[in-house]
Order: sequence, then structure tokens, then C-alpha cells
Amino acid sequence: MSKIIASAAIRGAHKIVDMAEKKWKEAVDKFGINQEVHFPETAYYLPIIYGILGEKIEKLSDMEKVFSLCRKFLPAPVHEKVHLPYLGPTLDAGMVTLFAEEMMEAVKYLEEPDFYFPEEEPPEGKLWLGAANDIILRKRGIEFVDGTAPGFAAIAGAAPDATTAMKIAQELQEKNLYVFMCAQHAGKRFAEQLVEGGMQIGWPVRLVPFGPEIYEAVFALGFAVRAAMSFGGIEPGDFRRILIYNKDRIFAFVLALGYVSEEWYANAAGAINFGFPTIADTPIPQILPTGVCTYEHVVSNIPHDRIVAKAVEVRGLKVTVSKVPIPVPYGPAFEGERVRKEDLYLEAGGTRTLSCEWTTTLPLNQVEDGKVEVIGSDLDELPEGTQTPLAIVVEVAGREMQEEFEPILERQIHDYINYINGAMHIGQREIVWIRISKKAKEKGLRLKHLGMVIHAKYHEVFGNILDKVQVKLYTDEQKVKEILEKARIVWKARDERLAGMTDEEVDTFYSCTLCQSFAPSHVCIVTPERTGLCGAYSWLDCRASNRINPEGPNQPVKKGAIIDSRLGQWEGCNEFVNKASRGALERVSIYSLMVDPMTTCGCCECIAVVLPLCNGIMTVNREYKGDTPCGMKFTTLAGTIGGGKQNPGFLGHSKFNITQKKFIASEGGIKRLVWMPKMLKEEIWERLVKRCEEIGMPDLPNMIADETVGVTEEEILTFLQEKKHPALEMEPLI
Ligand code: SF4
Ligand code: ZN
Repeated sequence: MSKIIASAAIRGAHKIVDMAEKKWKEAVDKFGINQEVHFPETAYYLPIIYGILGEKIEKLSDMEKVFSLCRKFLPAPVHEKVHLPYLGPTLDAGMVTLFAEEMMEAVKYLEEPDFYFPEEEPPEGKLWLGAANDIILRKRGIEFVDGTAPGFAAIAGAAPDATTAMKIAQELQEKNLYVFMCAQHAGKRFAEQLVEGGMQIGWPVRLVPFGPEIYEAVFALGFAVRAAMSFGGIEPGDFRRILIYNKDRIFAFVLALGYVSEEWYANAAGAINFGFPTIADTPIPQILPTGVCTYEHVVSNIPHDRIVAKAVEVRGLKVTVSKVPIPVPYGPAFEGERVRKEDLYLEAGGTRTLSCEWTTTLPLNQVEDGKVEVIGSDLDELPEGTQTPLAIVVEVAGREMQEEFEPILERQIHDYINYINGAMHIGQREIVWIRISKKAKEKGLRLKHLGMVIHAKYHEVFGNILDKVQVKLYTDEQKVKEILEKARIVWKARDERLAGMTDEEVDTFYSCTLCQSFAPSHVCIVTPERTGLCGAYSWLDCRASNRINPEGPNQPVKKGAIIDSRLGQWEGCNEFVNKASRGALERVSIYSLMVDPMTTCGCCECIAVVLPLCNGIMTVNREYKGDTPCGMKFTTLAGTIGGGKQNPGFLGHSKFNITQKKFIASEGGIKRLVWMPKMLKEEIWERLVKRCEEIGMPDLPNMIADETVGVTEEEILTFLQEKKHPALEMEPLI
């Protein structure tokens, strides 16, 4: 460990702790010691303090003991003449820095509640997002564990100019890394440089502006700590495992761009605790021997055109970039990119024009692999601002290809087109909406490239079932109409196939263990009448996925002998769950929320909870941020029941599942539903009405309370009584 770095980091830590303590004392004088403090919408308190120390900071008064702990662990400044083993004290100084910064930021939320904008993207006139809320954590954190995002680069400071900043950012995006930004150098900030250069920033494009100062580096590390607790199932306070989880699974590093102050060193020392090295563009001393980090700890004086490559190498990151033959960058980091009206060269669909996309199987001899045809005009033959009809027809053939795989393949088109830098894709089937930007057009992007991307990705991902792929893109309105007529017949048949199926008519269900990467004991059992709780996998999807990839996460589960038909328990399912959860679960009821309910990994679209006073069940969707009658918001619920444990009285489920026949059938089904957010009710309204008619209760949808009626059991009970909600007459739930 370099003595210069060690002494600078320790001095920086002293400064930061002093400053944080001063701010805390001022806040105590102003707001009183009992003032509540928190980061927005999170069940993880101040996450680093919670994760590392196991301490919940809920009030200003709770900070007192953490400050005295900081003082205790803060090493004395290093004397010029003494030689010490520096690594230990420097790491302590780094950790203490992070604790102090978290408390300082919590005070900032109190002092300036509007300083940060706590959503995914900053609106006009704002830039800094601050701590990610739990919704963002779940949505984005999953990408860290399933590998869509290998890690993040925490950038402190600024590049010499906007062009260099944009180059570095794009290079990181192309490697699928998230970019977390904070601090300034010479009055400039990296995030501001990206905005200046016209780049979109925010979580959807993986360029996250945390804050203007170095102290906001703490949000990046806080995110890492929460990922370990949320997805790694690590208990708060188990600091060793949290740090090891990060070292082994989150490929993160710090890019220090510009003058490295003592405060920067202190934060770099904090990051080294997690195994995250620092790569600098200035000639600071290096720490080359390995120890905590996988390779070097601090590497300096790296030129900007090599800094990303160097960081990736030092962190030991293996990046897989899929090679698609198009003239613009490509990868999941561009998935959330918008194409604004001002940037628009061409658009299709989105209620403006007729548009659709359809994947269909043809005999082998009718498909010429790699052939991409644009039938009608391509981009360069159309003027800027064109709204064109567009049908994308993907014709596939393969000895192993089956009709039932088509919807799975078709659904991927959305991602594959979105990965194109400069293209935006929303929806599917005939509600697609595609936009191409002027910049992408200038770089040479044409409609035919959309086809080439689909061809390349289909081969890459589905190579074992496909032999040939050809794509036709129609921009002629009459042709699009003809395609639509054909495709609609196919889509209708597909929908009816699943809608008509029952659990009784099959002898095999399917498992999904995709989420075990972060919730190791979680198993979804997917049946025809119970889709996966994330909403992404139906029984047909799981069966198809199993046939495509027999060793994959969807395995057939033979039902076996029935144990309890009301609860939905079968011997085969229990055995499977027991084995797949490595003994963590013994039994699972497919139809019950009260007895041996299915676990949730955390990605459920909705959570149903028993409401004892109303003798009913409520459900809440992820997007609804308000209070609910069970006393917990969605984020708190997800934090409480996620992670693969069984929680009687709670059940994660998909939106679609609400109107499936077996939804909480053991508790009486949809008749038990007494509350759900208005937005959810509106979203599923048509199906809800239909389902209630089926059970002979056409008035039921209007008897289900929502937040406009109340958000406590007492408030909604009066309403339920007035409406004569059937749950009140049903057998007691508890
Ligand atoms: Fe699979 Fe369930 Fe995870 Fe969805 S929630 S991906 S169905 S394990
Ligand atoms: Zn999941």
C-alpha cells in the first residue's frame, strides 16, 4: 500500500467525518434529535450502515452511535517517519468515510428535499437522481445478477471535454456496464458533459447521475450493498459476505477523472473494501500488488482512449458483446433509449400508422438464411420525419422448430431492436411503435439492419432450434394490411390455446428457477392456470423453453398423486420443490395463500396479502407507490417476503393470474379480493369484468375497493359493507 495514498485517504476520511458530524449537529439543532431521516422509498434504511453494521438509521438520534463508531475506527493520521502496515487502517478509513457520507446525504434529504429527483430519469432542468429507490433497485439490480449488466463504473470528476466524456460513456455502455456519476473536476462534471453533448441520461440508458460531489459516490456503493442483501439473500450486518458477494459478483470499478483530492482517496479506499479498484487518468501513486481486489487496487496515468479497456482488464471482467453487422453501437445498455420528436427521422406504428411484427415458421426449402428484404422504400428513400406503415415478418425454419416456439421468438424482437443505438421499440404484435433517430440514419442505419439484427440474434440465442432465418420488412400500406390479416388469425389462435387450458387436463407442470441466481431457494411452479409470478412465463412458454433448452431453468414437473385438490398440492410438485430448493421448502400449494404458499423471488408483479378485519385479500402492483390497507407499501412487502421464503398470508403473483380461474382458489378465489390499486383495476378491467361474469357476480368489480375509497382496513370495511361484498359472508380466513 502506498504511503501517500494511505495518508491522503486517512486525512480525507477525517475531513469527511468532521463535516458530516457538523452537518448532523446543525440538523439536530434545527429539527430536533427525534427527527426522522431516510433515503426515498427504501426498506434498507441507510444501506451501507444497515448492511455492514446491521444498524437501522431511522432518526437523527440513531446517528450518534454510528458517529462514535466512526471516531473509534478512524485511524490516526499517518506520520511522515513511521512505517506502518497501511492497508488495514486505510480500508477502515474508507469504510468510515462511507458511513459518514451516508449520514450526510440523509441530512441533505432533510435539508433540501427537492435536491435529488428520486426516479429513473431527471426531468428538464434537473440532473441529479440521488439514491435509487427500491423499485429501481429491483428492476436494475436483477440485471446485475442475471448477467445482462456485468457491473458498473463509478465515474468521479470529468473528462477534458464533452466529446471525450461521450466516448468513454458509450464505450462503457457497449460493454453493458452501468455508469454511476458523481463529483467534479475543474468546475466540470461528467454527467453535465454528457448532457451538453446531447446524450440521454438516466437508469434506462445506464448512465446514472447520482450527484455533483464526491460524497455521492456513496450511492453507488449503497446500491451494491442493497444488491447483496436483496438478491444475495445476505442478512444485514453480515458485512463479510456482503463484501465478498460484491467482489465476486459485481464487476465494478472507479474511474477517477481529474485531480484526486484527499476526499477522493478516502472514497477510493471505501471502494477497495468491496474489491472495486480505481483507475485514474492522472499520475497518482499506484497500488499494484493484489490483495483485496482481484488484480491491482489503484492504476494511474491511463490515457482516455485506453481507460475503459484498462479498467475492464484490472477488474477481471469478461465482457461478451454480441456482434451484429450494423453501423451503430449495439447492446442492452441502449434498451431504454428514447428517440425524441426533435431527433426523429422515421417512425412506424404507435397509432400513427399501421404496424406489426410477426414470427412464423415455414418449410426449410422456403427460407433463404440471412436474406433480408425491404419491400417498399427503405429509410434513405423516405424524407426526414416520415411516418411509415411497417410490417416486420420473420420467417424461420429448422428441423427442431415448432409452432409453439413462435411467440417466444416473436417476443424477443422487442429487445433486439431496442438494443440498437438510435432505435426505439415499444409494444408487440400490432401495437408496435418504432422510431429511428436522425443520428442513426446519418451513421448509415437502414430498415434492413433491423432485419439483420433479428437474423443474427435468432441464430445466436436459438441456434439449437433454428437453421434458417429470413426477414421481410414491408413499408407499403396495402402489404402491411395483408400481413396483419394473416397474423391476426395466428395470434388469436395462440391466445385461445392458453385461455382454454386447465390444470386438470395436463399431467405435467413446469418449474422456473431462473431467479435462483439471486434467490437461491425460490422455485416457481407454472401451471396452465397460474402463470409465473413475474408475468413473463406462461405454462406454454415454459414448455416451449424446455423443449428449446432441455437443460435450462424450465423443467417438467410431473404432478403425481394428488394430496389436496383444494390447496393444489401434489406429491410430484412437493418432491420437486423440496429438491430444487435444496431442502428449504417441503410443500407448496399452488392455489393457496394461507397454507404453504408459493415463495417469491422478488420480481412478482403483484403481492396479495390477507386482510383479517375484512375477511378478504388485497393485492398491490409494483407500480403503485402509495399506502395499502395491510399497512405496507409494495416495496416494503417485496423486501419482507422476497428472497425465496414461504410466508403464509402473503403471495406473489402476476397481473394476469388475478383473472385466471385458480387464483387463490383455496381461499375462495376472486370473491375474496377486497382491495387493489385503481391503476391495476383499470389495467385488467376487461378481463376482470369477464371473469366476474363467469362466476355469476357481474357487480363484483365495483365492490372491490381502491385507494380512492381508503388505504386502511377500517376505511374500506364500511365500503365493503355498503356494497355487500361477498368476502364478508365467506367462511373466516383466520
Ligand atoms: Fe421464472 Fe418465476 Fe423468476 Fe419469472 S419469477 S423468471 S417464472 S422463476
Ligand atoms: Zn424472480
